[in-house]
Amino acid sequence: MSSPAPTANGWKSITPGARHDRQVGNVFARRSRPQGVGQGVLDMKILLFGKNGQVGWELQRSLAPLGELVALGSDSQDLCGNFTDLAGIVETVRAVAPDIIVNAAAYTAVDKAESEPALARTINALAPGVLAEEAQNSGAWLIHYSTDYVFDGSGDQPWRETDPVAPLSVYGKTKLEGEEAIHASGCRHLIFRTSWVYGARGGNFAKTMLRLAVEKDRLTVINDQIGAPTGADLLADVTAQALRVALQRPEASGLYHLAAGGHTSWYDYARLVIDFARQAGIKIKVAPEAIQPVPTSAFPLPAPRPKNSRLATGKLQNTFELNLPPWQSGMTRMLTEILEK
Ligand code: NDP
Repeated sequence: MSSPAPTANGWKSITPGARHDRQVGNVFARRSRPQGVGQGVLDMKILLFGKNGQVGWELQRSLAPLGELVALGSDSQDLCGNFTDLAGIVETVRAVAPDIIVNAAAYTAVDKAESEPALARTINALAPGVLAEEAQNSGAWLIHYSTDYVFDGSGDQPWRETDPVAPLSVYGKTKLEGEEAIHASGCRHLIFRTSWVYGARGGNFAKTMLRLAVEKDRLTVINDQIGAPTGADLLADVTAQALRVALQRPEASGLYHLAAGGHTSWYDYARLVIDFARQAGIKIKVAPEAIQPVPTSAFPLPAPRPKNSRLATGKLQNTFELNLPPWQSGMTRMLTEILEK
């Protein structure tokens, strides 16, 4: 089987293999592939967009054992991975001819999106639509991530996949439009709506709270937004597991809510992080009673946030026979890792 070679820019150069029909430039053209199952999982070619994001980074790890992985970032050179270049994205998909397209790329700057709606729409809606059309035309699967921000955040019950959507922000609207484009294309897909994503790599809420707790003697944290902090590693592992099942059961194609178990507020989340660090011997400046809960209105931001971000994950757990662990287990694991550094 052919395999991509690591280069300075990532997994980009594709070496010839029996499954390819013809070479185009430094990549290989689409081979004809029968629709449906029957192909061994390890014979799969996977094209990943957004390899450098929180989720994309973990997907590079979790998808690698499933087959041949071509992973692109927005700045990849030989193959276009930039979602503002829709023609380039089409060219990339046709050149790689993947069995599975995984889209971890997104415009995720929620507040900035309010002043850049056209760019957010291109990346979150038009590009996934283009990927979906290509997937439909070639018989590939499309794996995509969406968000609790498609809901208005009312009530206090976990949102189900069938509940009415009503995004409050440009980010939420463009992510919803992306979902709709995928549904409309008719391609086989898995869309995972998730919430409050954190990764060990890069910045995240827990790291910010730790830094502030060491520096400041008083902290205020929002306590009227609830959700489930969900690890990028959990998302990536569940994606790989669900994909293995879906490849054998195409009827599993659809929309799923995917978040860690339980729920919390940003305030309680901050308390857990700071208490954990204190117990681990980190010199924390802020006293427990100096961490104050405040309402959302205390931090006015351009994009409104849903207050209730809870997601009901029963459909995913039943369909793929998976257990989603409580959010604290992934969080304390990440804290242990970063505090040991
Ligand atoms: P990140 O912000 O960590 O990563 C987003 C990725 O998108 C980056 O790697 C970035 O690539 C890429 N990207 C941005 N602009 C472009 C572009 N023009 N072309 C190609 N790629 C681009 O996001 P997450 O990993 O946290 O999010 C993954 C998915 O989960 C997204 O669909 C997001 O909407 C969803 N989600 C995230 C939540 C969260 O709390 N973070 C909550 C709910 C859902 P580069 O760095 O190379 O520019």
